[in-house]
Amino acid sequence: MHMHRKNHRFRQPLKHEAHQIATPSKGMRIVCLSDTHCQTNSIDVPDGDVLIVAGDVCLNGRMHELQQFDEFLGRLPHKHKLFVAGNHDIPFDCFTTEKAATLLKNATCYLENSGVEIEGVKLWGSPWQPEFFDWAFNLPRGRQLAEMWALIPDDTDVLITHTPPYGILDRVDGDGGKHVGCEDLRRALQRVKPKVHVFGHVHEDRGVITQNGTTFINACICNRHYMAVYDPIVFDLPKREKA
Ligand code: 5GP
Ligand code: MN
Ligand code: MN
Ligand code: MN
Repeated sequence: MHMHRKNHRFRQPLKHEAHQIATPSKGMRIVCLSDTHCQTNSIDVPDGDVLIVAGDVCLNGRMHELQQFDEFLGRLPHKHKLFVAGNHDIPFDCFTTEKAATLLKNATCYLENSGVEIEGVKLWGSPWQPEFFDWAFNLPRGRQLAEMWALIPDDTDVLITHTPPYGILDRVDGDGGKHVGCEDLRRALQRVKPKVHVFGHVHEDRGVITQNGTTFINACICNRHYMAVYDPIVFDLPKREKA
């Protein structure tokens, strides 16, 4: 099936009802993965409260690839399964946001410039990235991406994007080892200051660093040869202090 990508950047974000259950008294275990690229068989996913998928579950952007990923999601025990698309996840960019949100039956929440609140924790996700071979959700660096990041609410606790911010876990092996993350996203982080920022996209810089109060997680499962060699990354959000 050939998909015709619309790639209209003025897509209407969905409203998500708050999944507010209680103020977490025990903290929240967040399990992160991204860039599985059709290789879910060998991944051992730890249990946790919230599963975050930061995009590139497809390789060629075919519907059957999504179907296979959906079956993988269905086998996981997490109560909340949040999904943000990547540049390889073309079907999400071909349909309207409403339709895109239904493509993975086993994701509890599809985030496309939208957020969800889980037990008092505010999570926000966006698939857009600086253009690179013009696949799904690509935009030129500069103003258009800055407009996207301007939509991130100030009070976001956990930010999920497919692209890394510039300079953080975004070094490619080729191209002289340069940083390819989004400069405009890096600037937006100065305003938002999330507790955690989860992303993927640059396979070879997978890892975790904490800097200026934000823990950055590049949760890629695949290496740059698209082989699934890394483990999901687990992060425990501490329980909320009573004000
Ligand atoms: P993907 O095609 O899965 O989105 O990205 C795969 C690899 O392409 C990354 O691990 C990285 O090596 C490279 N890559 C992704 N985005 C860029 C970019 O904007 N510039 C350059 N030079 N390489 C990129
Ligand atoms: Mn903030
Ligand atoms: Mn990838
Ligand atoms: Mn990517």
